[in-house]
Amino acid sequence: MTSTLLTNIGELVTNDLSLGDGSRLGLLCDAALVVENGCVAWVGSAKSAPAADERVDVSGQAVIPGFVDSHTHLVFAGDRSAEFAARMAGERYTGGGIATTVAATRAASDDELRALARARVTDMTSSGTTTFEAKSGYGLTVADESRILRISREFTDETTFLGAHAVPPEFAGDRAGYVRLVTGAMLDACGPLARWIDVFCDDGAFDEDETRTVLRAGIAAGLMPRLHGNQLGFSAGARLAVEFGAASVDHCTHLADADVAALAGSGTVATLLPTADFGMRSPYPDARRLIDAGVAVALATDCNPGTSYVTSMPFVIALAVRETGMTPAEALQAATAGGARALGRSDVGSLAAGARADLVVLDAPSHVHLAYRPGSALVLQVWKDGVPL
Ligand SMILES: [Zn+2]
Repeated sequence: MTSTLLTNIGELVTNDLSLGDGSRLGLLCDAALVVENGCVAWVGSAKSAPAADERVDVSGQAVIPGFVDSHTHLVFAGDRSAEFAARMAGERYTGGGIATTVAATRAASDDELRALARARVTDMTSSGTTTFEAKSGYGLTVADESRILRISREFTDETTFLGAHAVPPEFAGDRAGYVRLVTGAMLDACGPLARWIDVFCDDGAFDEDETRTVLRAGIAAGLMPRLHGNQLGFSAGARLAVEFGAASVDHCTHLADADVAALAGSGTVATLLPTADFGMRSPYPDARRLIDAGVAVALATDCNPGTSYVTSMPFVIALAVRETGMTPAEALQAATAGGARALGRSDVGSLAAGARADLVVLDAPSHVHLAYRPGSALVLQVWKDGVPL
């Protein structure tokens, strides 16, 4: 077993309250860490670092945990830049554009979908993401939903069955029939390929009763719940997420006071997707209100072709800081430990001893630069399972 000492770290973000300066980020200055067997074996002051087989000097740069992007629609085909342009010209988004991507995705071969997904994963990784979730939801047939999940699993273990993303055109007159398909044959085929069950619970998407039906069926099939909710209006999403013990409710742009109180008293994470609000030119969620109420918050890209064709967590962080009321430290934590919590993971999102050695060496002396210098290429090096990529 080879050990590697990563040293001369100007600022190390551990996300471990017991380490460092007492802040939630667990910041250590002039730090080092030892990587062994893919995990962090030791963290502390560079002066007291133990010997290791190999030594990597990062020249005083900052090191942070790899980003955990807990919400992506990774596998899809087609182009919706024209829809984006139309929206920027003043049209209101209602979710109907999903059908465009469904048609293109159904028409694409497995190899085409795989190549498209691989290019997005390369983008994500090069901007510092080391763990990510991937949803189905652009197939909406038994065969297409299951092949999207099979392809997703080639890239990540965190797969989510989102058959209840939209009602496909062939079921336009029979919503109940589509929900029966999702909770029947589609769940039978997709359940074994997924870890999570998700529903787009919102105005113009699936209503409260439909959402309950799909979540109950998914949970009965052994999947864990998460939800899209409160993006387009004051929907039942956040309330149902708490009721069902969902790991996360994602978007949270429109929340009533009762929703915020329910989330604060729960184990459900509010995952904010500010690049979706950016892409829709719609109001941003109020992260300050959530954090001040004691709600656990995560940040993710929502990478999808309709509202947020974004793979960069540094961009999400910059937007969250400038538009949702987060501090740079809160945004970084939400993009790492927050994302891990939204996926029910304790092995990623921090750099405490025992965590996976998934980390990013920044081309900057402090994590604050992620929000301070949006658009700059600040990711110098990405390590996954203790190995530089
Ligand atoms: Zn989404």
